[in-house]
Amino acid sequence: MDTLPYTWTHCHTHGQTLLYTWTHCQTHGCTAIHMDTLRNTWTHCHTHGHTKIISHYFGGIQLNLYRKKKISFLRKNMYDLCNSFFIHHYLFIQAAGQIYSFLMKLRTPEGAFKMHDGGEVDNQVRIVLSYCAASVARLTNIITPALFDGTPEWIVMCQSYEGGFGGCPGMEAHGGYSFCGLAALILLEHAKLCNIQALQRWTVNKQMSYEGGFQGRSNKLVDGCYSFWQGGAFPLIHMVLAMELDKALSAERWMFNQEALQEYILICCQAPDGGLLDKPGKSRDFYHTCYCLSGLSVAQHFAGGKIGGTFVVGHQKNLLKPIHPVFNIGVDASVHATLYFSALPVPGTS
Ligand SMILES: [Zn+2]
Repeated sequence: MDTLPYTWTHCHTHGQTLLYTWTHCQTHGCTAIHMDTLRNTWTHCHTHGHTKIISHYFGGIQLNLYRKKKISFLRKNMYDLCNSFFIHHYLFIQAAGQIYSFLMKLRTPEGAFKMHDGGEVDNQVRIVLSYCAASVARLTNIITPALFDGTPEWIVMCQSYEGGFGGCPGMEAHGGYSFCGLAALILLEHAKLCNIQALQRWTVNKQMSYEGGFQGRSNKLVDGCYSFWQGGAFPLIHMVLAMELDKALSAERWMFNQEALQEYILICCQAPDGGLLDKPGKSRDFYHTCYCLSGLSVAQHFAGGKIGGTFVVGHQKNLLKPIHPVFNIGVDASVHATLYFSALPVPGTS
């Protein structure tokens, strides 16, 4: 038995729910998550005083995340990037309208997006650009019908015969594109356009039974970064099925082997000197460090039923903070951004 991580003890009692946030309430100090499927929300919690959840312990096996080394690796490499990001962030706060104008320039007639103004249309990542546009627009509260006219319909054309999404219509199904496609549809409130059963079937079959990690495409090798791109799709699929009132949906676990994924990340993807990697024999890098950790967090935290749950393989110190399932940023950060920008007028409506 353990208490819920504080970022999961969310509920707001203001009569207004926020989009795609783990809503929170700390009124009574200790709360239980109560999963109601509300319009456009993930969770809504009540403060009934139930404070305990059941933690899963993994047979006494100690698999340690070399946390200090991972964090120092990230800190060292992220420092300049973060500085740059936060400087831009505050400029964005003052210029949400300019972001809107910028995104409008990147729109293609069909509703997809280009990489930059005047740039070529990169077919290989077009669905990623639609997700980036939807994610930024949702966080900064600048979504309008004009900005995303035709975008959901274009995105769903990228869903292939396999069930996953390609980078553009006709391309091979791919884990990164599938996450971006479904997340963008959710952000734009058009998840119903997706063939969710086909996507679910394709995604569950991407977890490899021997390694425990995910492959990105059919007949490819397992790769640590897909711990998030494929693993991170499960909370989204779970939410869509919950909104369809799927009675077969588990109230206790995501629909993949959460322990096996954690074992792959902890045993196979850690570089001894810090950082994480694709697979043994590969070099550590910034990208795989980020997405292995994000995937590890998804595998450790469940929040799709009436109560949340944590499943920590190895030492309890391995436990990471939960990430926001749609934005892949800290839950606190997404809540703060949503609260801030939701108080500002949507461009063109005032
Ligand atoms: Zn990779």
